[in-house]
Amino acid sequence: MRIGVFGGTFDPIHTGHLVAAVNAKYAADLDLCYFVVANVPWQKEGMRELTPARIRYSLVERAIEGLEGFEVSDIELRHGGHSYTVETLRGLREMHPEDDLVLVVGADAAANLPTWERSEDLPSLAELLVVSRPGFSPPERVDPWSCWSVVEIPSLDISSTDLRSRARDGRPLDFLLPRFAIEFIAETGLYQNG
Ligand code: ATP
Ligand code: MG
Repeated sequence: MRIGVFGGTFDPIHTGHLVAAVNAKYAADLDLCYFVVANVPWQKEGMRELTPARIRYSLVERAIEGLEGFEVSDIELRHGGHSYTVETLRGLREMHPEDDLVLVVGADAAANLPTWERSEDLPSLAELLVVSRPGFSPPERVDPWSCWSVVEIPSLDISSTDLRSRARDGRPLDFLLPRFAIEFIAETGLYQNG
């Protein structure tokens, strides 16, 4: 099997993530694609208050309900502490020793790959697939990979950062993320304070 690993903070999950994952699965001929919810993304720590991982996880779980070939993974939540992709890939490799892993990242994340923890170990653990993202050119090099693929996907200029700010200001969220997630945000007041 070919298994996709699409990691993120998903705070909250949005249509851009869903379109990226579906197109990555198609382009890389994946049998299964995991949405891997970060527990504490170390590169984002201290920058703002993160929504508890369990809430981010349950929104992802609901968003992909019934979407064939996709699963949400709690591997980073179970591990606890900081989330490092190198450890996540090792864990997934143990779960799927016979299968090929494909790490899926947006063009913005791809540009940061060299700064990821023990990034030199990543290419031996997974292939790399970069999905396009508006505002970010696909990088010319993706160290430490010497070989990777880029897939052009429909350009959706949606980010969780913008959605949080919209929620705070009361601006429309419709169609940018699943309706149940919009209702959850309205009911709980998530993102009202920052
Ligand atoms: P934030 O603004 O909080 O960083 P985000 O929208 O960038 O949130 P993340 O959870 O950081 O979402 O991203 C998870 C993965 O999804 C990353 O690889 C990122 O590049 C990719 N991604 C996010 N939004 C899009 C989009 N609109 N199009 C393509 N890829 C995306
Ligand atoms: Mg991001």
